[in-house]
Order: sequence, then structure tokens, then C-alpha cells
Amino acid sequence: MRISIVGGGPSGLYFAILMKKIDPAHEITIYERDGPLDTFGWGIVFSDQTFSYLEENDRPSYEEITRKCETWDNVVIAHKGQKITVRGNRFSGIGRLAFLNILHERCRDLGVDIRFNTNITDAGALEGYDLLVGTDGANSLVRRTFEEHFQPTLEEARNKYIWLGTRQLFHGLTLTFRQTEAGLFIAHSYKFDKTTSTFIVECGEETWQSAGLDKKSGEETCRYLARVFEADLEGHALLANNFVRWLNFLLVKNRRWSHKNIVLLGDALHTAHFSIGSGTRLALEDSIALARCFRANEKLEDALGEFERTRKPIIDAYQEAAVSSLLMFENAHELMHLDPIDFAYRLMTRSNRIDYEKLKRRDPEFIAAYDRWRGSTTE
Ligand SMILES: Cc1cc2nc3c(=O)[nH]c(=O)nc-3n(C[C@H](O)[C@H](O)[C@H](O)COP(=O)(O)OP(=O)(O)OC[C@H]3O[C@@H](n4cnc5c(N)ncnc54)[C@H](O)[C@@H]3O)c2cc1C
Repeated sequence: MRISIVGGGPSGLYFAILMKKIDPAHEITIYERDGPLDTFGWGIVFSDQTFSYLEENDRPSYEEITRKCETWDNVVIAHKGQKITVRGNRFSGIGRLAFLNILHERCRDLGVDIRFNTNITDAGALEGYDLLVGTDGANSLVRRTFEEHFQPTLEEARNKYIWLGTRQLFHGLTLTFRQTEAGLFIAHSYKFDKTTSTFIVECGEETWQSAGLDKKSGEETCRYLARVFEADLEGHALLANNFVRWLNFLLVKNRRWSHKNIVLLGDALHTAHFSIGSGTRLALEDSIALARCFRANEKLEDALGEFERTRKPIIDAYQEAAVSSLLMFENAHELMHLDPIDFAYRLMTRSNRIDYEKLKRRDPEFIAAYDRWRGSTTE
């Protein structure tokens, strides 16, 4: 097959690797707008389950990825000056760039043709391929070009967010809530290598405006937010890369997942709010699912049909959980009066995928403290 992939992010690269493994004779070209050392964002997190998929599907890249990861098993919730730790939540962090570079290398070894610094401006012109894959992210050109067939819905979330880094090492996924005169700021932070942590800040539009963040440069924004989170950063600065800017999370859904020989994967197809940290995982699992459909079906339309039929219910459930999580962060200002332990419990159970019993199995000490608090408030 001749396969053209628009977008060299996690989904495009991993799909290329898997298709080459199915048949080395596939001719695969990836068109990527940026260079091999450019990327937005800092680190990303993966669960253990993601690792087992990566191990099963491509051992060489799995081994490289795990070598570069930092692992922890706790979530820390910082509220009203108290830090509540909840254990039993094993996650690993890795730099997005380090992760992409491992996939680039693996693609090269397998003979995938990656054309960096190639911005596709007319997806309709990519003819002559047996399969065209749109892995070009949340603002996908492939999706926009064929939107009457894919029938996407796009919904902007209310909160503003910015993806920064810092040399302060946050051991564990740390959620910090800081009330200021301008309003509430929330940071999602975790270390992803030996020297750096991701530091994502979100706030409501009103807070953003009253803090004057709409008028501040990247550097001024970093300085302002470093003051808001001064106690948490312990003197460390906030760092911005070339892609730094405030965004609103975009919820992407598509009614149809393919059209003729064109299919979407990853963020082009669906997004999940970063507070459940699963976008890359879902993008990789899409690639695994689609490659499996190609292994099982000779005809292209059968493979694409099976992909949508089997994968869509899983994605729908994930997106639902991610929306519950997003709403909790958007409405967090209404919960600031809560006791830290109650607040932590509500945060941990926000997406309805974790309940009391699961938390009790993962961290009996946390649940014992929660039960003590509940007992003390009802007596
Ligand atoms: C703040 C934030 C934090 C996140 N944290 C996590 C996390 O901790 N864990 C996690 O699993 N996920 C996380 N995600 C989600 C994750 O980044 C995405 O879900 C994931 O990158 C999707 O992969 P993708 O390959 O589908 O798309 P992308 O990674 O968006 O890749 C798309 C690629 O296509 C290229 N491209 C776009 N248009 C064109 C064009 N016209 N021509 C050529 N190339 C083009 C882009 O340059 C890019 O390289 C986070 C996202 C955000 C915004």
C-alpha cells in the first residue's frame, strides 16, 4: 500500500511504525510541518496500562521510552496551604520531544519517509495514495478539507490554559489551587525527567482578564504566574518554549471517522481534556486499533469500517469522563470553601472512573483520613 500521513505527532508516527511492521513493503510518507527538534508542550504522562500496549506492539520503542521515563505513584492536591497525598496511582512522565524523537528514530529504522518542515496546505491535493491518514492534531486540515463527510463538532472550553515548564521537581501529579485577588489559578505539574517538570496553568476568562494576562508577553506571563505559585515553585522560574500561548481546550468529535480512503486518528478525530492526561495514550491506541484492523481485513473499506465500529464506543466513554473532569476544573472556584480532604476526595472521583472502593484499595490511609473527616462533620 502507498500510505500518506499528514502530521508527525504520536498518532502518525506510531501508525507508520505498526504498518511497516505488518508489511515492510508498504510505502509510507509522513508530512510534518515542524522540524525534528520542535514541539509544543513539555512533558506528558502515561499510565501503566499504556506501557503494556506499547510493549505488546513495538518492543524496541517501548524499551527506549521506559528508559527515559520518570515514574511515581501519588497524586498531590494542594489546597488551603495543605498538601493531601493519594497513593496507588502509578504514572510515568516523559518529555514530549524525547518521546517523539524515539518514534522518529524507529520510523527511520523501519524505512518510513518522514518529511520534516513540510506544511501541507491542500490536503485535497494528496492524491495517488491508497490511504490518506489525517493525524494533524486538533485543528486538522485533513478534517477541515473533508468536513462535510466527517461532520465534526468543535466546542471550546471556558478556561484558558498555558503549557509551561520549570526546574522545580514535582514528585507526583500535583494539582495546586491558588486563590488571588484576580481569581483562582490552578496548576497541573509533574516531573518528566531528572531536571524538569511540566507546569500547566489554567484559569477562568475573568481571572485571566483581571490579571491583565491578555496583554502580557510570554516572559511577563511566566513572571506573573511564578509569583502566584511562589510558595510551590520555591524560587524556581517558569519556563516557556517557542510555542507558548494561552489557549482554550478544544473538544473535538466526528460523526464519521473515514471517507473513501481517508481516515482521521488522534486529536484530529477526538480530544480529551488534559486533566485526565490521556490524549497521547488515546492517539497511540487509535494507531494500534487501526493497524490491527488492517491486519485482520484485506479490503480497505472493511478495515476502516471495523475501526470505527470497534473503537468509537471506547472513545465516547473516555470523552464523557474527560468532560466531567474538565467541568470540575472550570467550576473549581465554587468548591474552594471545602475542607482539603473533602476537596481531594471530590477531585479524585471527578471523572466517575474512580470511586470510594477503588480509592480504598489504592490508598487505605487516605480513605481512613477521609472517613475520619466525614465522621467528625456528621457528629
Ligand atoms: C496542555 C496539554 C497537556 C497535555 N498533557 C498530556 C498528558 O500528560 N498525557 C497525554 O497522554 N496527553 C496529553 N495531552 C494531549 C496530547 O498532547 C495530544 O492528545 C496528542 O499529542 C495527540 O497526538 P496526535 O498525534 O493526534 O496530534 P499532535 O500531537 O497534535 O500532532 C499533530 C502533528 O501534526 C502536525 N501538523 C499539523 N498540521 C499540519 C499540516 N497542515 N501539515 C503538516 N503537519 C501538520 C503538527 O506539527 C504536529 O506535529 C496534552 C495536551 C495539552 C494541550
